[in-house]
Amino acid sequence: MHLKKRFFIPVDLPHLREAIKNGDFDVTPTLQNNSPLKPSIETLLHALMPQKIVVHLHAIEILAYLIRHDCETKLRRLLTNCPPWVLIDYYKPGKELAQAVFQTISADPQLKLIFLRNHGVVVGGEHIDEVNDMLTIIIQKLTTIPRNIFSNVQNEAPEALDHYIPIQDIEIHELVRDPELFNRLDKYWALYPDHVVFLGSQAYAYKILDDFLFKNRQEQHSPELVFIQNRGVYVKPTFNRAKQAQLRCYYDVIKRQETDSYLYILSSLQIAELLNWDAEQYRQCIQ
Ligand SMILES: [Zn+2]
Repeated sequence: MHLKKRFFIPVDLPHLREAIKNGDFDVTPTLQNNSPLKPSIETLLHALMPQKIVVHLHAIEILAYLIRHDCETKLRRLLTNCPPWVLIDYYKPGKELAQAVFQTISADPQLKLIFLRNHGVVVGGEHIDEVNDMLTIIIQKLTTIPRNIFSNVQNEAPEALDHYIPIQDIEIHELVRDPELFNRLDKYWALYPDHVVFLGSQAYAYKILDDFLFKNRQEQHSPELVFIQNRGVYVKPTFNRAKQAQLRCYYDVIKRQETDSYLYILSSLQIAELLNWDAEQYRQCIQ
């Protein structure tokens, strides 16, 4: 695959390392060119590790484990013959997470593999090949076969509805056609930070089409993404590619869970922190 767009942003690494040394995890990275792109909030994760190459990913197969209550036990069982690793609890991406990773690395500077609960993985190495090999092995060991879908409804694109269009990725409609997956929309929505940031704090899932139509015509603010059981997954035309990718990620991750999998979801407070909500919005969320 040829990547046409440049998305790597050169930043001043010694400046970041100096800030880390001084305990400043809130430092703003200094750009080394006049890129219009903004460095990620997670830039510090890369600067914290001593290795030359540091990769941070929210890879599906890994993420599918990191949201499970028993993920540490599962990782210990499956990741045999892998480099030493640690699992860090969930922290808000940015300053808090950087601080937690820093403490872990300070205790063991040789560490090359760090799992972040409800988030992703950080892998360090001296060469691209070393990092790539490590990731390939981990993903291989953690590969899960997605569940079989139980649905009586044909897997084809549903018709448009009011001001909504059906999501183009046909498979995603399984989220409303399989009863188990549909229930998970309510129960297991806020699973990791990007999902919440891009797709919101809750799923707007309706069992009955008329309930949706009634609500949609009443309310001033109607959601950008809705799920209607046995009908389809619908979006407003403003639903952009980044959001579509996040929705696909959710589909891939949730489809890899067993029926009895017990998942960690982010708390109301963690969701509010991610969305930079003020106290009033937070109060509404926990009601
Ligand atoms: Zn991340």
